[in-house]
Formats: sequence, structure tokens, C-alpha cells
Amino acid sequence: MSRTQDGAGDRAKSSAENSAQNRPQVQPKAEGWKQAVDAEGRPKLQFAQSRRVSQPPKHLADLTLAERTDWVKELGHPGFRAKQLSVHYFTHYTSDASEMTDLPAETREEMVAELMPPLLTEVRRLRTDDGATIKFLWRLFDGALVESVLMRYRSRITLCISSQCGCGMNCPFCATGQNGLTRNMSTAEIVDQIVRANRVIAAGELDAPSAEEVAEEQDHTGLGEEADEPSSPSGPQRVSNIVFMGMGEPLANYKRVMNAIRRMVDPAPEGLGMSARGITVSTVGLVPAIRKLADEDLPLTFALSLHAPDDELRDELIPVNSRWKADEAIDAAYEYFEKTGRRVSIEYALIKDMNDHPWRADLLADKLNERGRGWVHVNPIPLNPTPGSIWTSSEPAVMAEFLRRLEAKGVPTTLRDTRGKEIDGACGQLAAAED
Ligand code: SF4
Repeated sequence: MSRTQDGAGDRAKSSAENSAQNRPQVQPKAEGWKQAVDAEGRPKLQFAQSRRVSQPPKHLADLTLAERTDWVKELGHPGFRAKQLSVHYFTHYTSDASEMTDLPAETREEMVAELMPPLLTEVRRLRTDDGATIKFLWRLFDGALVESVLMRYRSRITLCISSQCGCGMNCPFCATGQNGLTRNMSTAEIVDQIVRANRVIAAGELDAPSAEEVAEEQDHTGLGEEADEPSSPSGPQRVSNIVFMGMGEPLANYKRVMNAIRRMVDPAPEGLGMSARGITVSTVGLVPAIRKLADEDLPLTFALSLHAPDDELRDELIPVNSRWKADEAIDAAYEYFEKTGRRVSIEYALIKDMNDHPWRADLLADKLNERGRGWVHVNPIPLNPTPGSIWTSSEPAVMAEFLRRLEAKGVPTTLRDTRGKEIDGACGQLAAAED
């Protein structure tokens, strides 16, 4: 290439960079509602539920099999009934006493009422993607509403679940966070979302994805795709993958979420016998809890919802960043990889003129590469276009440039699947921006 051509190329490049640098900076702010603020005017954060909230009734899914056995005995029944009830719940996905014909007719109603009280009442069910996606709205015992979204793919079935009623993290783009944290969901309430979804699948109510969806899937792989679920020609017959991206910040409800995960991976009939690799725990960056999670000795998939590499923006976008900065969250994610050997995911919703600037892609790549190579995977998430809102999708060319820059610096990057969003599938952390 001649000097003159080189110079022209440089000029064209620098003018493109200049116009990229001159792109507007849209500031995050809540639309249609007011963020609660503390005495210093910072968005309020709430890490714990009020002591006064009432708790759901105890359910066998709250307990280990040994604890269930003790409970059954305390109620005056033989201990082995605990195992029989567990088989019905975790293997047949039923809480209906009339189906439990191996239990004595005279006591089965009473046992079920005591050990398996109803936890989730279905309020609404929305189907999309030709029936391959179902969004459930559940009412809990105290009237609180939570959601889960069930998605069938070619070789896996993913359920996006909630872990809290409301959320105390107060992200300005998130409808869930606007009223703060009502209460933590119990272990059994978290698990019951899966059991109920499995019942729907067993009843043949979740359809196969269309050929188009399958083709899309090959391009846009979802999270936690490594579940070792036995495959059959028609795909798995129960939930194989879990993502904690429904309502709530799972690491703010650490104890119950971990208990629920144990119940997911415990072999049947103690639990659901799922693969830990197929379970994705996602957080906005509660650093001490990320460290604790790394010590659990479970090969979970870990996802950090970063959404901005610089504190200036992230302080506004993810209020918990005022407590633990972007670098601290990335360090904790790196430590998670070091301890578990599991490659971590960085979630990054691309929002027009807010966080999609080319320099942010470069900064993100540099920050990840500084810590090492091969430890992380970035999942940019395209939002739906929302005309008139600041929470709208990046232009396709901007999105492509963002991905190109990450890849150019050697960071593995996959544009995330956005299944379920057509039905307002507010998988809290990510999709709420699309409300
Ligand atoms: S985005 Fe997630 S962490 Fe933030 S308020 Fe919503 S549910 Fe909570």
C-alpha cells in the first residue's frame, strides 16, 4: 500500500473514530416511575427483607430427605413415607393426593396438606414462539406476584426463574426494582417453579421450536448450554437449564437460593437430579456473595450483569456499583473462574447511545484481558427497539461494531438469544429494560 493510500485510510479511520467518540451520551434514568433515593440522594439499596414479613408455609422441598423423614415421623407417620412423597413431588411432579395411590388412603390427604402446601397459584400463562415459550405469572401465599419463563430449544429446555418478590437493587431500567424488596422467596417457592414447569412439559403443553428458531439457536447460543441432560430425538422432556434472571437479585437471597440449587442437583428423590453446569446464577455484582459462591464447590455457570465497564456510567445504571465498583465485580468474577475452572459470562445489554460506544467495547475487552485469557465470555444482549424511550436497542451497525471490537481483542463474544421477549418476558435483569 502506498503512503498516500495509507494516509487516506488513516484519515477515514480517524474520522470514523471521531464521529464514534462524538456520539451522544444518554444518561440512565427511570421512565414512568421515580427511583427511591436515600438521604444523600443516591438510589436506595435494600439488601435484606424486613424482619416483619411473614414466611410461606414449610414445604418438603425446603428440606433435605433426612429432615423430611424426621418431620414425617414427628407427624406420626413411618419415616419411609418421606421418600414416597418425595418421589411424587420430584419425579412425578405432582402434589395431588389422589394420584398417590401407594400411600394409605386414610392419611394421604393429611400428609400432603401438611408436607406439600400449595405455594404457587397460576394467575396467567402467555404463550409465544408458536408455543415453544411460555411465561407464567404466579401468585404466592401472601399475594406477591412473580414470573418464570419456560423456553424449549432444540436440545435443551430452559426455565428463567425468580428468587425474590420485588428487588432491592433499584436499577433504573427495571420494573421489578421500583417498589423495592417485598421479601425473599423461600427455597421451596424457588424449586416449585421448576416442578410446575416440568408438570406442564410432561402434559405436552410446551411445543417444539420452529425450524426458524432452531436455525437462530445455532447462531445465538444461550447461557448454561452445557447441561448433561440425556438427549432424545425430540429433545429433553423436562427442564434441563435454569437461569436466575427472573425477579430479584439471587445473591441477595443467598441462603435460600443455594438451598434451592442443592435441591435442583440432589439426585431424585431427594431433589431433581439436574446438572449444576446447566444452572446459571446471575448477579449485578454483590462481590462478597460471588466469593462465597465460588467456595460452594458446585460447577455452576456464573454470569455477571455488567452492562458498563466504566464506573461513571455503571454507578447510574446499576446502583449497587456505588458499593462494589466495576473492577471489583470483574475481579470477583475472575476469582470465580480461578476457583471453579468454570468460564464466566459477562452480560451486556446494548442500549442505544448509553453503553454501546466503541470505546466502551475496547475498555471492556482491555479490562477482561488484563486479568487473563480464556476465562470469560461476553454476551451482548440486543434489546427490542422502543421508540421514544432511552431504553432502546442499539443500531445494528453499532451493535456489530461493538462485537467486532471485542472479538478483535480476542474476547469470545456471542450475541444472546432474546427468546420470550415478545410476550414481555421480563427476565428481570436483562429484559426489564424492554418493558
Ligand atoms: S435488574 Fe435485577 S438487580 Fe436490578 S432491580 Fe431489576 S431484578 Fe433487581
